[in-house]
Amino acid sequence: MALADAATAASPGGDAWVPFTDLRAMTLEVETEIWRGWSAIVESSAFIGGSAVELFEQQWAEYCGTAHAVGVANGTDALQLTLMALGIGPGDEVIVPANTFIATAEAVVLSGATPRFVDVDPHTLLITPETVEASITDETRALIVVHLYGQLADMDALRALTDRAGIMLIEDAAQAHGGTWRGYRAGSFGVAGCFSFYPGKNLGAFGDAGAVVCSDPVLAQRLRSMRDHGRVAGSHYQHDMIATNSRLDALQAVVLSAKLARLEAWNESRRSIMASYRAAASAGSLRFIEETPGARGVYHLAVARVSDRSAAERLFAERHLQTAVHYPTPCHLSGPYRRFADSTLPVAEGAAGQIISLPLFPHMDQRQVARVCEAISELDQRLVYAESSSA
Ligand SMILES: *Cc1c(COP(=O)(O)O)cnc(C)c1O
Repeated sequence: MALADAATAASPGGDAWVPFTDLRAMTLEVETEIWRGWSAIVESSAFIGGSAVELFEQQWAEYCGTAHAVGVANGTDALQLTLMALGIGPGDEVIVPANTFIATAEAVVLSGATPRFVDVDPHTLLITPETVEASITDETRALIVVHLYGQLADMDALRALTDRAGIMLIEDAAQAHGGTWRGYRAGSFGVAGCFSFYPGKNLGAFGDAGAVVCSDPVLAQRLRSMRDHGRVAGSHYQHDMIATNSRLDALQAVVLSAKLARLEAWNESRRSIMASYRAAASAGSLRFIEETPGARGVYHLAVARVSDRSAAERLFAERHLQTAVHYPTPCHLSGPYRRFADSTLPVAEGAAGQIISLPLFPHMDQRQVARVCEAISELDQRLVYAESSSA
């Protein structure tokens, strides 16, 4: 039986599985609103664009603290269209972290540019000004900072570096809806902030969806045209560039507006569960990803580093706690991306074999949180013992 099936069934002689995430609980909170919004759209047949999309775009820009938001079909398109709209393409280099979801690097390759992978900080697993600076060349046009797991790096330092180097700062905020640095939200630091609303993200649609936020009206206008076959604003058959179709559906926009009203509460719940997890790991051998001082994470994932991941996976599985790994292979060692790897990246490579993601979703009940905490505490102590007896 797959874990997902097991998660819904009480197992013989044991507790029911604590699933890795539970999207259904979020849906139940907003279902009535969504049906109401959907029936209006079904009535009007305005499925593409229209007032629901415009409303969500306004709300999302306001939430992120930017002047504009442009809805697109998914997070990968948000990144690719941003790069292309900024004129980045063949011959250009774009710096990306080695440990991210593959889409960050994929978008760079799709734009025609070359990804340059950089290593990360061992405590946060985020890029640092030092790792980035060492990789800047004459061809570098942009840095894509990824707010991995919902955490932000020192954005002042990164922005100072990109300004000094004369390169553009782009944010991959696909895991960080609502995350902040010194009170400012993810997406508002760079020339553009790229979001995915894949169902499992902190703000998730009922399918694929994405957005780019920015404060430059010219960039916003260009993105609006690019997502819609290069149409000139207000026209139907006048195209002033070769672009693509990457629009946000009205049905998805309704879901996103309804869920956005709950996002702060859901993020707060993730943070408070995470605080319990941290407290349970008091022996210090199971180390959760650290927050950068000044940043406030939104815990898209609860990621810890352990010296013996197989032991950790076994213990959590025995307790019927579903876990995952984000991500088992750093991008620069992943099949077709190997040709862009020009050096070993020891921190990202070492972390890939040690990280484990624990169950975390806003609607976890106290009993579920307690079961995860007990397992964390026991594993933490076992690892301390194993490490000290092997030392
Ligand atoms: C999910 C994700 C993406 C891609 O988003 P899609 O909507 O799946 O295309 C890009 N970057 C990161 C870091 C992600 O987590």
